[in-house]
Amino acid sequence: MEATASPAADGGLAVTGLVVGYGPVRALRGVSLRVPAGAVVAVLGTNGAGKSTLLRAISGTLRFHRGGIGGGDITWRGTRLSGVPAPGVVARGVTQVPEGRRVFARMTVEENLRAGSLGARGGAKEAALARERVHALFPVLAERAHQRAGLLSGGEQQMLAIGRALMARPSLLLLDEPTLGLAPLVAARIGETVREINAAGTSVLLVEQNVTLALSLASYAYVLEVGEVALEGPTADLAAGDEVRRRYLGMAEPEPARRAAPRRTLTRWFA
Ligand code: ATP
Repeated sequence: MEATASPAADGGLAVTGLVVGYGPVRALRGVSLRVPAGAVVAVLGTNGAGKSTLLRAISGTLRFHRGGIGGGDITWRGTRLSGVPAPGVVARGVTQVPEGRRVFARMTVEENLRAGSLGARGGAKEAALARERVHALFPVLAERAHQRAGLLSGGEQQMLAIGRALMARPSLLLLDEPTLGLAPLVAARIGETVREINAAGTSVLLVEQNVTLALSLASYAYVLEVGEVALEGPTADLAAGDEVRRRYLGMAEPEPARRAAPRRTLTRWFA
């Protein structure tokens, strides 16, 4: 599906002119992006660019970080999401996996999964089906069902964090740096899982510092810089273009003319 399709028509996510602040700190300054239904879209950017803030605004969790929306709009499947508290966002089919593999360390793996289905639509039957799906994706979570989550390896904890989010049966999954700090093979396994989740019909908005992995998973990507979209385009174009290779893959030295190029020009390359 084309990333430029109208979200109202295709039932996807549309973020328009989003402004977010934490008290006096302006973290997002008019960010617009789209996730068409069924797509994987990536958000790249250096530390502090505003990637987590963007996901928090969509998932309704900004208030837990003393942040707030100062302008713009977020719509999901044609209805307004901005201002909806976190449980309401989950109930509408949008779930976030926060940065840092956050699991309930003292609870068992099974209890963590059960916590993920709280607030989701449907009853026990739907929850059992969701658990089956999670166990099929991550067999280790079935094997360790009665172990405390804090005893799992880093990769397994990330699988549990994703599994817990999937228990809510999301139509859109917001993933914040799922491979951060993981060994390359484990990161590749998480990447493969993202592909499987998407193939099963869930749209994905992926924040990822592993640019190579992100560009291989997503069909379209946005690059955030200091709270603004500095660059966007189909990932095939971004991967082939100099800007992303130079800035994030360290593959070429910038030429003086390029270094001085205004941001707007860069964005238009791929518009
Ligand atoms: P990273 O890759 O390091 O996680 P990021 O791109 O996700 O970075 P954010 O965490 O969204 O960036 O931060 C964007 C800006 O907002 C930064 O300047 C950051 O210092 C600031 N910020 C984030 N959380 C808070 C908070 N709870 N209170 C105040 N400022 C915050």
